[in-house]
Amino acid sequence: MDFEITILGATAATPIYGRGQTAQLINHNQHYFLIDCGEGTQHQFLRYKKKMNRIEAIFISHLHGDHYFGLMGVLNTLHLQKRSEPLRLFGPAGLSEIIIVHFRHSNTVLGYPLVFKETSTQTPALIWENEHLTVETIPLRHSLPCAGFLLREKKGRRKLIQERLLPDFTPSEYIDLKHQRDIIRNGKAIPYDYFSYEVKPRSYAFCSDTAYHEAMLEQINGVDCLYHEATFIDADAFQASETKHSTALQAATIAQQAKVNQLLLGHFSIRYKDPIELLLEAKKVFANSFIAEEGHTFSIQEEGPRL
Ligand SMILES: [Zn+2]
Ligand SMILES: [Zn+2]
Repeated sequence: MDFEITILGATAATPIYGRGQTAQLINHNQHYFLIDCGEGTQHQFLRYKKKMNRIEAIFISHLHGDHYFGLMGVLNTLHLQKRSEPLRLFGPAGLSEIIIVHFRHSNTVLGYPLVFKETSTQTPALIWENEHLTVETIPLRHSLPCAGFLLREKKGRRKLIQERLLPDFTPSEYIDLKHQRDIIRNGKAIPYDYFSYEVKPRSYAFCSDTAYHEAMLEQINGVDCLYHEATFIDADAFQASETKHSTALQAATIAQQAKVNQLLLGHFSIRYKDPIELLLEAKKVFANSFIAEEGHTFSIQEEGPRL
């Protein structure tokens, strides 16, 4: 089952040629979600050969332009492409008003249902789920109401252990396995659990934009992958606190304290020509840090069985 994060853009505030603003495409088990939608996001879909029409839901963290100015373009293009499936949109108060005004004045009536739900930016809330995945908001500390998103797989999914599958299974035994039933051989039951293992649920936390915010630690504790903004280096910590952003050092400290497995850094200020400076700073505290490089897909791997 895939769990992939494709970075469509990761730059902060003002655009810079060749680098997109915050937008991430999530593929979970062939269900596609967009997190944030900076200016030019639909161009990024074309550039990285991703299908925009497959998105089921869009999650917007907050209403600074670098996180949602691409939204009207995406919504309108989906309309022009004759989308008919509903699209769910989650974002803070005010977003629905912005969209309504845009479409009212362009005399646009979308050809698909756009279902908007306002997010809570004060307390964590479950906002979306399907058979295998839930999405919760993560309240963040920023100069506008802002919530990150925690995507977490549900518990209880089991997978077959290839090494324990018997070469002489009969067709009816295969059917029993498929339906997660025990196998009866010579009057004895071999439990389904012997042939399968419970897959460890995977999780991804998206945290942009935010000042250093320890209140999130409990919620994101132990996630497989954390994206955390790192707008500044530690030498510019004053600007970070003034603008309610984080330094790379602070992002790494959050990753370390929350005992996450992997840290992705992004939302770098354009004042830093080479983001390696931010990466090296983070790595001093949290070694498994990476730059959320545009166009790159990070995959969260499933753990195998412990035999
Ligand atoms: Zn931003
Ligand atoms: Zn912001």
